[in-house]
Amino acid sequence: PGSLSVVATPIGNRDDMSTRAIATLRAADVIAAEDTRHSRPLLVHHNVDVPLVPLHEHNEREVVDGLVRRMLEGQSVALISDAGTPLVSDPGFRLVRAARAAGIRCVPIPGACAAIAALSVAGLPSDRFVFEGFLPPKAAARRGRLQALAGEPRTLIFYESSHRVAESLADMREVFGGGREAVLARELTKLFETVIGEPLDELATRVAGDPDQQRGECVLLVAGRGEEADARLAEGQRVFALLREELP
Ligand code: SAM
Repeated sequence: PGSLSVVATPIGNRDDMSTRAIATLRAADVIAAEDTRHSRPLLVHHNVDVPLVPLHEHNEREVVDGLVRRMLEGQSVALISDAGTPLVSDPGFRLVRAARAAGIRCVPIPGACAAIAALSVAGLPSDRFVFEGFLPPKAAARRGRLQALAGEPRTLIFYESSHRVAESLADMREVFGGGREAVLARELTKLFETVIGEPLDELATRVAGDPDQQRGECVLLVAGRGEEADARLAEGQRVFALLREELP
């Protein structure tokens, strides 16, 4: 019987491919790729010479049936995306769902994922975390989403476009408070890899004032709302209430 291998590819450094990932791609009958032009250089670099079919958010519905039929006929299909792990803010959900519904074995070939790579060096609590994917691009919707997350005690992980990172940090500072610890992880595994951790007040100011921090690909992480932070907030409010009574 055929199978579907979901293969992670690098998020920057093209050698972040496991031996098993390369062997799986070489052995596949067909590789479904988000953007075939984008993936070809990586496949050439690893001597993978297998036909590619495009599978992206605009055609996933249409190509899924054909791929499932091929797997039912005994072919092995591999799924890759432009970077990192397929299905993580990337296409593939419909294909995996349809393959599983058809009784086809789905095999994960794990590897790079920007969210997990960022978490692994952020120095924020990592025993529990929430992956939020991309925030809405429009300000009102973005603030609404952040508001809904303001009380979340687990570490928050966001993907963000470099064009919006300054705006998003400003909104986070406003909604979560400037004292909340945050980390900007940029260009992971690439030449200009940068990981900066500081309170939102400082991070938002730094990024707003430095166009270099608004380039490339980035992950934003924010500490969850902790008891410590709650205690500080309560203390601040208590002091403020006392002061207000004293003021004319
Ligand atoms: N499937 C991918 C994964 O497993 O991480 C994510 C795909 S999503 C369309 C692309 C987003 O991931 C970027 O906008 C950025 O937020 C993040 N990302 C990808 N590569 C990155 C890198 N090298 N450094 C930092 N963030 C990265």
